[in-house]
Amino acid sequence: LLNAVKGFLLRNGLLTLSVVAVVGGCTMGFLLRGTQLSTQAKIYFSFPGELLMRMLKMLILPLITSSLMSGLSSMESKACCRMGVLTVTYYLWTTFIAVVVGIVLVIIIKPGVGTDMESHRLGGGPVMTSADALIDLIRNMVPSNLIEATFQQYKTDLIPILKVPTRTVQPNFVYVFPDENDPKGRTVYLELTPPPDVTYKTSPGTSQQMNVLGIVIFSATMGLLLGRMGERGAPLVNVCQCINECVMKIINAAVWYFPFGIVFLVAGKILDMQDPSTLGKKLGWYGITVLAGLFVHGLILLPFFYFVLTKKNPFTYIRGLLQAMVIALATSSSSATLPITMKCLLENCHVDRQIARFVLPVGATINMDGTALYEAVAAIFIAQVNDYELDFGQLVTISITATAASIGAAGIPQAGLVTMVIVLTSVGLPPDDITLIVAIDWILDRFRTMINVLGDALAAGIIAHLCQKDFPLSGAGKAGPSYGTQ
Ligand code: ASP
Repeated sequence: LLNAVKGFLLRNGLLTLSVVAVVGGCTMGFLLRGTQLSTQAKIYFSFPGELLMRMLKMLILPLITSSLMSGLSSMESKACCRMGVLTVTYYLWTTFIAVVVGIVLVIIIKPGVGTDMESHRLGGGPVMTSADALIDLIRNMVPSNLIEATFQQYKTDLIPILKVPTRTVQPNFVYVFPDENDPKGRTVYLELTPPPDVTYKTSPGTSQQMNVLGIVIFSATMGLLLGRMGERGAPLVNVCQCINECVMKIINAAVWYFPFGIVFLVAGKILDMQDPSTLGKKLGWYGITVLAGLFVHGLILLPFFYFVLTKKNPFTYIRGLLQAMVIALATSSSSATLPITMKCLLENCHVDRQIARFVLPVGATINMDGTALYEAVAAIFIAQVNDYELDFGQLVTISITATAASIGAAGIPQAGLVTMVIVLTSVGLPPDDITLIVAIDWILDRFRTMINVLGDALAAGIIAHLCQKDFPLSGAGKAGPSYGTQ
């Protein structure tokens, strides 16, 4: 037994270190919570974790653009079309299933029913219909300025920006505020380096981010066209392939820093955590409902779909993804985890390279099963707290808007909390009520991000299996243990 354990640890050194880092980070965070560190000390303490996040975010843009452009340029139109249609259909289908799982569970468990939680009903905000939500989504698919799309706030005029939740402002982040002097209530973007201990009222999760959806659509279009241009497109395709290989090399080197960064990332978050004793019992049940839904969807339904569609063992496949899931847990960001998910798919799961290069970046952007499930549960929980009866039509509206809102959410920490405003307003619930769930959102976010990443990776395995006839000669990752083949 000792030898088996030793063998496992040697083969899975990095994974083991990462898991130890998560546990170590939690322990250190809780131990230090009693010590009343100053804000300045907390900033220094969280610095190795901040570096980890920056490294991962740095790789997102080159990875997404180079993967899509080089991947799609080398495919035949028919194969490409088939893979695209299968991928998008599968993503929409599983997201919708996730929403249904969430709705069923929250209706059965009824976490918000009862009176021990004070209603924060502050009057309805602007009402947004499902059509508005869809239009908003499509608007973001077509960025008006590509350079701006790589760094600016994921811009939308339709999502009303909330003033209520109070968050400590972190240095060098862009925050969004409603401009009180603007009669149209448009938002202003501020970059702040605030003095320590200052808190501003701002909407949650609106830190600086890219319009990844717009970038994905543009890069995919470029990739498709480059492939049709033959010789003339070849130089650019070569550049993209080079960038892609370099990014993968950077990732291979950077992963050794990750366990160290994870310790401080997790500990820093726990140091900043709101005191759990302020949480109501209902909120606890709400958290349990979301976690139960994520468990059912991620560890029962998705593996079941994988098994039915590929006839392979889903858990052997998932074993190859554990490293990516630990990074998702630590970072709360599926975009930041993308480089590691790609590495796991190619090296451990041996998914076809061309397929991974398309399915993963698209999935990290539009396929967020965990987020969709949570948005549906949260909206119905808020309705229950407000004693607000939802009829069947409203449940259907919630399922459509939660799907759209999850597609529109960026793969960054707590993005789902912001896009949830769409779901709430679509059925006339007060958007300000997201303050009810904000206290435990950071922890739920980690688990839903894990399921988001898992959903993308399982999809890649399924699409690779379904399209294998179209890509008989293309290469998978490096040689190594073959996951998911038995
Ligand atoms: N943090 C999630 C992700 O990156 C998005 C969300 O649900 O807030 O996938």
